[in-house]
Amino acid sequence: MVHRPSATGLTIIGGGPAGIGLLVAASNSGQLPRLFARGVTVLERGADLGAGELGEYDINSDSHADSFLRCLDEGLGERFPELLAHSAARALQDYRGRAAPLPLIADFVAAIARAFQSFAAGVGQPILTGTQALAATRTADDRWAVHVRRVRDGTETDLVSRHLAVATGAEPSSVDLRRLRVAGHAVWPRHKGKLVLSRAVLATVGLRVARRLLTNTRNPCVAIIGGSHSALSAANALLSLSPGVNWTRGSIVILHRRPLRPTYQTPELARADGFHAFQDDDICPKTGRVFPLSGFCSDSRDVLLAIMGLGRRMREDRIHLMDVTHCAARGVAGTLERADLIVAATGYRPRALPLFDRHGRRIALASEESGGPAMVDDQSRVLDRTGRPVPGVFGIGLSAGFPLAGTHGDPSFDGRANGLALWHGEIGTAIVRAVLEEQSTVSALALVRAGARRTARDQVDGHVLQPGH
Ligand SMILES: Cc1cc2nc3c(=O)[nH]c(=O)nc-3n(C[C@H](O)[C@H](O)[C@H](O)COP(=O)(O)OP(=O)(O)OC[C@H]3O[C@@H](n4cnc5c(N)ncnc54)[C@H](O)[C@@H]3O)c2cc1C
Repeated sequence: MVHRPSATGLTIIGGGPAGIGLLVAASNSGQLPRLFARGVTVLERGADLGAGELGEYDINSDSHADSFLRCLDEGLGERFPELLAHSAARALQDYRGRAAPLPLIADFVAAIARAFQSFAAGVGQPILTGTQALAATRTADDRWAVHVRRVRDGTETDLVSRHLAVATGAEPSSVDLRRLRVAGHAVWPRHKGKLVLSRAVLATVGLRVARRLLTNTRNPCVAIIGGSHSALSAANALLSLSPGVNWTRGSIVILHRRPLRPTYQTPELARADGFHAFQDDDICPKTGRVFPLSGFCSDSRDVLLAIMGLGRRMREDRIHLMDVTHCAARGVAGTLERADLIVAATGYRPRALPLFDRHGRRIALASEESGGPAMVDDQSRVLDRTGRPVPGVFGIGLSAGFPLAGTHGDPSFDGRANGLALWHGEIGTAIVRAVLEEQSTVSALALVRAGARRTARDQVDGHVLQPGH
């Protein structure tokens, strides 16, 4: 059996960067003691906490080191001084203002997780690693029974909680690969033999396979589908295979639908670089940065600037950007035919937890609909397929797809939050606050109801108690 108190206030499902990020947000907003006073259970199916998927890649981060260190800057170091002295935190300080290696960031977030692990154990609510949540069912008294399995021996039990935070991450879906179309061309099944997910190319093993495939090919050609950070990171990772692979002009073609844009600190710097393709609503009103959210930063930005030939950079002509909405369908078909390897960088699907209502019926979630809608609304509430919030269930992290449009960064941005800084900051804090407020309301209502029951009983007995008695 998994040992736990019979009911807690909040169960966080997933102990990766986002799940632990919620605890970071609680700590930095001064809400950690209240949260734990009401009971917190963290469930992680793996043996280790914190790094989640970030630990799987041997490339540089998309965001600057500062976005990971923000949590220390905002107070975490005061609660956990050992984090300030941790070797990964100290090494990360040297990367301020630029990208840092993901393995280093993975070490850093794992250290944060260990700090919370000790804290939670110290207050008698140990984090449960090696414990997988299988599903959650609404109970008759408006709680959630989370059905869990201990990975080691398969033991199963239910843990009851008032609120759930789903932080289970996301994955590129191989089902989506079968439906993948580029400018009207189905990629599956015609090209399935040379089609891979971008995550494969971003990991060391996948790169080795790509090297084997492309070495000794006279004019290697790779088509990357998608215009995301993963697409440019994949292109960058593939270029690192030279000199073994003989890349030539236009060897790597990125097939994208929207323009790819670099981030700039200020509009003046953008113009000075020769970049003018932005308008007022592409500039963050708070920071003055151009495309802070929808633009590329770090290594991806560097390679994009080189592809676009901006500033005085040496032009990167081995990568060609092909906007599939504006080029002839024949050109797209030809590129797919010619490619030795096709990399799908087409986004992620949430690993959402199956939820059931109090009658045992499956609650279909918005994120399960076609087109990959977000799992949550702008208050991080998990939505059912009709767009209604599922009571008591929040989502955070890559699985959630928090819609950022109009809330942070460039007003023109219509994408989703996929970075730690907001989970540690604004998004995480808002979830913790909402959970605590709802729990206070529920407790107050329970007191009122208990009071009302007592009053009714007293009235029946003919002894109406007055305040102060
Ligand atoms: C290549 C790449 C580069 C990135 N670079 C950056 C960057 O520079 N900056 C940035 O801020 N973000 C970056 N991200 C985005 C994001 O920060 C990471 O993807 C991060 O790992 C997401 O954290 P997560 O907790 O949402 O998901 P995950 O990392 O996938 O963690 C989910 C956790 O939940 C656990 N879990 C899943 N299901 C269950 C279950 N049923 N029961 C119990 N446990 C479960 C998993 O074991 C895992 O530990 C990058 C992502 C990728 C892929």
